[in-house]
Amino acid sequence: MFPTNTHILFPEFDYHAPTTIYEATELLAQYGDDARVMAGGTDLLVQMKMERRQPAHVISLQRINALKHIPRLETGDWSIGANVSIRQLFQSPVSSLQFSALAEACNWFSTVQIMYMATIGGNLCNASPAADTAPCLLVYDASVTLKSKTNERVVPLTDFFLAPGKTVLRADELLTHIHIPRPVPNTGSAFLKISRVAADISQVCAAVKIVRDGNVVQDARIALGSVAPTPFRAVNAKAALVGETFTSELAEHVGNIAAHEIKPIDDVRATREYRQRVAAVIVRDALLKAWERSL
Ligand SMILES: Cc1cc2nc3c(=O)[nH]c(=O)nc-3n(C[C@H](O)[C@H](O)[C@H](O)COP(=O)(O)OP(=O)(O)OC[C@H]3O[C@@H](n4cnc5c(N)ncnc54)[C@H](O)[C@@H]3O)c2cc1C
Repeated sequence: MFPTNTHILFPEFDYHAPTTIYEATELLAQYGDDARVMAGGTDLLVQMKMERRQPAHVISLQRINALKHIPRLETGDWSIGANVSIRQLFQSPVSSLQFSALAEACNWFSTVQIMYMATIGGNLCNASPAADTAPCLLVYDASVTLKSKTNERVVPLTDFFLAPGKTVLRADELLTHIHIPRPVPNTGSAFLKISRVAADISQVCAAVKIVRDGNVVQDARIALGSVAPTPFRAVNAKAALVGETFTSELAEHVGNIAAHEIKPIDDVRATREYRQRVAAVIVRDALLKAWERSL
């Protein structure tokens, strides 16, 4: 019978609940590919029920307080613990004041139940092209700390995603923190998402960031989700925007460039053509919003 998301979990596994990052990395070093980290479990448990993953060891991150800090300033950058929930992130004043796009992505993240359980680290490590926080963090030039028992490295998010479900994370590594450079003055950002129903993942989503100098776009980033094998940065669209005087016609033009730059597919959620049309519109609208916020 085809496995569904609604039956109980049959396969047996050992459940570990470390209380420190070091203990978790020790367990990962010991069990390697036989283990799977569980944060909120909103992706992992579905995958286990569907029998796409059958780890012999599940390592829960729930009891590790060091992974749970909401955005805080550390040596000039904002740092977020990997195990912060989408709900906590949405409620953090820092998100709404400094990172409007991220706050919007968290606000529209499925249902309240999912928002309470799902974490930002899980959203990135699951590596879905539809991960809502990924385009936001890409426009903020975020990086992630990956820790193993013996090593630690910081990887720019632009280098983190490899393919659907695949990242540069090694089997013995834990994503511990997300770092976002402090926004410069006159920065505005916005996130927009189109989905079949509110509780679903996106058909297309887009995040943009604009830094303004008077009427001119001094710097910008544009990133999209559900339009390519990994969360996608639209570099041609950015190039058409930076250095120009901002107008609604320019926003429209840049939206069209972004729509031609993406590589969407047909799937159960939308056709390629629909995704391209919607991408042009939501990039345009997100640019208009971000521009207003950059004052
Ligand atoms: C009904 C429903 C609606 C959803 N709606 C949305 C939506 O609107 N937008 C959206 O983006 N997603 C959505 N999702 C997907 C999911 O909720 C998110 O991807 C969520 O952020 C995953 O976080 P988690 O903490 O639950 O991850 P988990 O399921 O615990 O983990 C996901 C993967 O990441 C790995 N992992 C987790 N944390 C770490 C870490 N710190 N270090 C290393 N590896 C780690 C796990 O081993 C696993 O492979 C939805 C899921 C469901 C079931």
